[in-house]
Amino acid sequence: MPGVFQLPLNEIADEARRVEDLGLQAILLFGIPAKKDEMASGAYAENGVVQKALRTIKSKCPQLATITDVCLCEYMSHGHCGVTRIDGDHFHVLNDETVELLVKTALSHAAAGADMVAPSDMMDGRIGAIREALDACGFDRIGIMSYAAKFASVFYGPFREAAESPPQFGDRRSYQMDYANAAEALREVALDIDEGADIVMVKPALPYLDILWRVRERFGKPTAVYHVSGEYAMLKAAVEKNIVQERAAVLEVMTALKRAGADIIVTYWACELAQWTGE
Ligand SMILES: [Zn+2]
Repeated sequence: MPGVFQLPLNEIADEARRVEDLGLQAILLFGIPAKKDEMASGAYAENGVVQKALRTIKSKCPQLATITDVCLCEYMSHGHCGVTRIDGDHFHVLNDETVELLVKTALSHAAAGADMVAPSDMMDGRIGAIREALDACGFDRIGIMSYAAKFASVFYGPFREAAESPPQFGDRRSYQMDYANAAEALREVALDIDEGADIVMVKPALPYLDILWRVRERFGKPTAVYHVSGEYAMLKAAVEKNIVQERAAVLEVMTALKRAGADIIVTYWACELAQWTGE
């Protein structure tokens, strides 16, 4: 991931101030815990890395909107997004046990100052469960950005390495979506909206413009798109080989995402884009 770094906690305040000065409205936080275990306990620890980062950012940049990734894979020793059980050669992700931990994670982020939580795991029923728990605990103003249509994609590779969370066995196809199936994507989005998602996300971006367009047109909800690590790294490599000019190529891609209906774009180029469009 050229130009993309993990940040230590003591640099997070400066980074938050930098992005706020550039005019960005929101940041999406992912945590890398010091140690991982079978219950992903770092994900919902009161003094977990994301919880600490939130308190620091909110004390220095209260206006900057903070959105937190809510998933267990970065905190699990096996790298899957949920609690797993292994039966012989097979493994199962246990949906309900996982949702319970996701709810705990979302609540701990809200308590630490998150403005919005972003469940990225794709378990069934997690949006409704998180919404209910947030409301019950007095966090009814905390929004939910749901990774509603997250496809099993080859383009996540660089992020998994950067987040130190590649699965140690099996893959994520049992809980991510088949990219050939557009109808399933629309069904998943409808379910998440029914359960209370405020923003729905399509991920990855460029190979899924048709899905993005349909989601935005059909549901009329604020729609986000995640231009993922593999898409970023591929274009960066093309720039390094002088195949395309970076600024022009990035602006063309981002405009395509906007044109296809994105209200929010999650991208590793956010700071550069803010600079370029502000000039
Ligand atoms: Zn995950």
